[in-house]
Amino acid sequence: MNNPQEHFKKVISHAKEYGFVFQSSEVYDGLSAVYDYGQNGVELKKNIRDYWWKAMVQMNTNIVGLDAAIFMHPTTWKASGHVDAFNDPLIDNKDSKKRYRADVLVEDYCAKIEQKIEKEAKKGKKRFGEGFDEVEFLATNGRVLGYRKKIDAILKRLGKSLGEEDLADVKALIEELEIADPVSGSRNWTDVKQFNLMFGTKLGASADSAMDLYLRPETAQGIFVNFLNVQKTGRMKIPFGIAQTGKAFRNEIVARQFIFRMREFEQMEMQFFIKPGTQSKWYNHWKQARLKWHLSLGMGESNYRFHNHEKLAHYADSAADIEFKFPFGFKELEGIHSRTDFDLSQHEKYAGKKLQFFDPEENKNYTPYVLETSIGLDRMFLAVFSNSLQEEALENNSSRTVLKIPSVLSPYKAAVLPLVKKDGLPEIAQTILKDLQWDFNVIYDEKDAVGRRYRRQDAIGTPFCVTVDHQTLEDNTVTLRYRDSMEQIRVDKKEISKIINQEVSAKNWLNKL
Ligand code: ATP
Repeated sequence: MNNPQEHFKKVISHAKEYGFVFQSSEVYDGLSAVYDYGQNGVELKKNIRDYWWKAMVQMNTNIVGLDAAIFMHPTTWKASGHVDAFNDPLIDNKDSKKRYRADVLVEDYCAKIEQKIEKEAKKGKKRFGEGFDEVEFLATNGRVLGYRKKIDAILKRLGKSLGEEDLADVKALIEELEIADPVSGSRNWTDVKQFNLMFGTKLGASADSAMDLYLRPETAQGIFVNFLNVQKTGRMKIPFGIAQTGKAFRNEIVARQFIFRMREFEQMEMQFFIKPGTQSKWYNHWKQARLKWHLSLGMGESNYRFHNHEKLAHYADSAADIEFKFPFGFKELEGIHSRTDFDLSQHEKYAGKKLQFFDPEENKNYTPYVLETSIGLDRMFLAVFSNSLQEEALENNSSRTVLKIPSVLSPYKAAVLPLVKKDGLPEIAQTILKDLQWDFNVIYDEKDAVGRRYRRQDAIGTPFCVTVDHQTLEDNTVTLRYRDSMEQIRVDKKEISKIINQEVSAKNWLNKL
């Protein structure tokens, strides 16, 4: 599975075949860029959410949770700037009639140059062998530096023209770079236009009195409008954070790449309220803290990188993405944004109410600044899933498909398997199952030969299989099989829970931070 495109296809088909992700309304031929999570997917998704919530809320005494409604008063979106500025720049190809995000076309062009850099590094490795220093090579090789300079110049110009709403220049850039429609190869482009991403809906029964609403395009605003409610009732002192997870909706035009870009998705956001002037310190703090959270999962340090924004959103004074190496290249997984007092001040202005904090040390009121961390749960799911799916060659010339999900996130922590369906083995297996169920999500399987059952568990990422056999009847021991090494050990029934807990507890994973 070296070829990334092949790997990505395998990711999508495996996600469906093993009950992780289904196309929404599939019986009606599906709904584009909307997905449902199946029996295993819902568990993986919940575990990712819990892992985030544990690290962000429960392990921080100064961060609390919130669950705000999806519907919000329509003025919210006027105040937040979404009605006027939550747009994507679109461009149509006149020949293929396909519509694209102009910035994505340019970014994809840069990703191709990036691939050339990777190729140069591979060539270098081949030429110099063992002694090859990749970091040094990337920092000094003339060709690589040339490519890098080109990417930087293109992204800088794109950032500038988008920032200044100079859509004619975005088109000019696409033309200068001779970017062709990926479908038709044609360079016959329309002008670039802005398109608002919010979904509208109506509240109320009769047509004339109904109120126009939007489905929220981000969870953040629910936090801002509740800032004082939480601060006062929780007696929170600055700096403090409010976190929430929940659905967000965007009418994405270029909705592709499976669950990477969806029209209905889930966010995990935390808004950290700080004293004005301390934003640079907290920006760096949260950049590092969030990267560490990702690294705690052990999915490979080289799969992450920061991308500092040239083009800042209307609310931000600095912003960076944590990018992950998806099968289709490095892409945004999480955003860290220094939002200043933009949001709270806007709500103060539109609502005509103060959203301020009285600082007893300073003996004065001020509107706090905000540092935001925002990650897409579905994108995180895709990162975990695509990184974990492996085709492994085995010694006896066979192979296995294994989902090496970080075990803290695995849908099931163990499978309990009676070797045969007789001699009292299923009964013992059921007792073990019932006992483990109190602490872990566990699955039971007694169908087919045990080897096939092991493969089934490998394919859904279960870190342990517990097999009950005839020896169990004699000495109360079972076989414990490890997913990753396939090693099998004999342990006393009473030990199982402790061993599993040691391996899967969030405490042990997060303690690596
Ligand atoms: P992109 O540039 O990819 O459109 P964005 O910069 O608009 O993303 P933010 O508004 O910063 O994204 O949202 C925070 C996070 O929410 C993103 O880092 C991403 O993980 C997730 N996210 C945003 N849009 C989508 C989507 N359409 N589908 C799935 N996840 C999304």
